[in-house]
Amino acid sequence: MDYDRIFSDAITAIKDEGRYRVFMDIERKKGEFPSATWHSENGEKDIVVWCSNDYLGMGQHPDVIAAMKDAIDKVGAGSGGTRNISGTHHYHVMLEEELASLHKKEAALLFTSGYISNETSISTIAKMLPNCIIYSDELNHSSMINGVLNGKCEKRIFMHNDAKHLEELLRADDPKAAKIILFESVYSMDGDFAPIKKFCDLADKYNCMTYMDEVHAVGMYGPHGGGVAEERGLMDRIDVIEGTLGKAYGMMGGYITASKDIVDSVRSFAPGFIFTTSLSPAITAGALASVRHLKNSQVERDRHQERAATLKHMMRDKKLPVMPSLSHIVPLLVGDPVICKQASDMLLEEYGIYVQPINYPTVPRGTERLRFAPNPLHDDEMMEHLVNSLQEVWQKLDIHKYSSAA
Ligand SMILES: *Cc1c(COP(=O)(O)O)cnc(C)c1O
Repeated sequence: MDYDRIFSDAITAIKDEGRYRVFMDIERKKGEFPSATWHSENGEKDIVVWCSNDYLGMGQHPDVIAAMKDAIDKVGAGSGGTRNISGTHHYHVMLEEELASLHKKEAALLFTSGYISNETSISTIAKMLPNCIIYSDELNHSSMINGVLNGKCEKRIFMHNDAKHLEELLRADDPKAAKIILFESVYSMDGDFAPIKKFCDLADKYNCMTYMDEVHAVGMYGPHGGGVAEERGLMDRIDVIEGTLGKAYGMMGGYITASKDIVDSVRSFAPGFIFTTSLSPAITAGALASVRHLKNSQVERDRHQERAATLKHMMRDKKLPVMPSLSHIVPLLVGDPVICKQASDMLLEEYGIYVQPINYPTVPRGTERLRFAPNPLHDDEMMEHLVNSLQEVWQKLDIHKYSSAA
């Protein structure tokens, strides 16, 4: 057995397909977000980041940074244990209370990432329910797919955001089986919203639980940042709301909120919660400051929506192929993985614009794209520079040819 060969062949295959991932070595500058320094092979270069999930710039917010520094000064660096063995700090308790109150639920539970919160909560809940069937949107995030797989239950995949297809599947199954409808509120690659109310109505009709990932909406939608469910007045109709502290809240960590008994069950049975060191107090304190700030401040959300709408408008004026998106996500269709990577390289090297190419398997083949995440701190001048540069790159690489075929 030639072990080395197996790994090198696998890498060669993805390189040939044009989807080998190259990480960008960047250094953000506090107070100058979204500007950063790129440590390239040819030295340092100033760039503007257009693909950060720190959607509102909260990772640089003075209140958040002050809270982290304060926590380090008070209690030190790490948490020192799992939640059960000396790793539950007062900050964890306060943050869980804050998150439960944000989503108007009885309880909340923190995890070390949004990925872990989905994977371990979904699999744990699925295992606890007798003869459970999970109905999962075809575009659900990898963390949810792996939660379903590890739950080792029956699964049905419904067409993306398609309530009609979901109902056909529900109707075909045993009415007595336990059922969970699993979906996201905002799909971050296309920027579209789930028909949440329709899914909840189906859940009522077929006696299902609902589990919704609000990762790309918490902090950004709803009058307190409670997500799309808060904006639409539907929080009480979702059994489990899952979120992250790593995107709009600018920190790291994930959570679920639900009834006391569901949260207590996950707390008691989920390996991904139990057998791991808890979030550091400093991160938890920073997240608490961020959640509290966005609960009371609407300016970031308003400016964020305005910036996204303005950018889409400017791109359309330049005849750039913006994919339909009602949210803060601005995807620009390229339609070919190699050209997508070339466009991204050219933007970076020649124009100081950093946007990551999004290729398969993150999105279906033929829909390769550049995905822009404008935030409140991208000003008009940056946007002008961006759309002018894109127009030049589109011409140089003749991208319209690919995107119109896709
Ligand atoms: C990013 C993401 C996650 C994972 O959250 P992290 O906190 O980054 O681990 C979960 N669900 C969706 C839809 C995501 O995009």
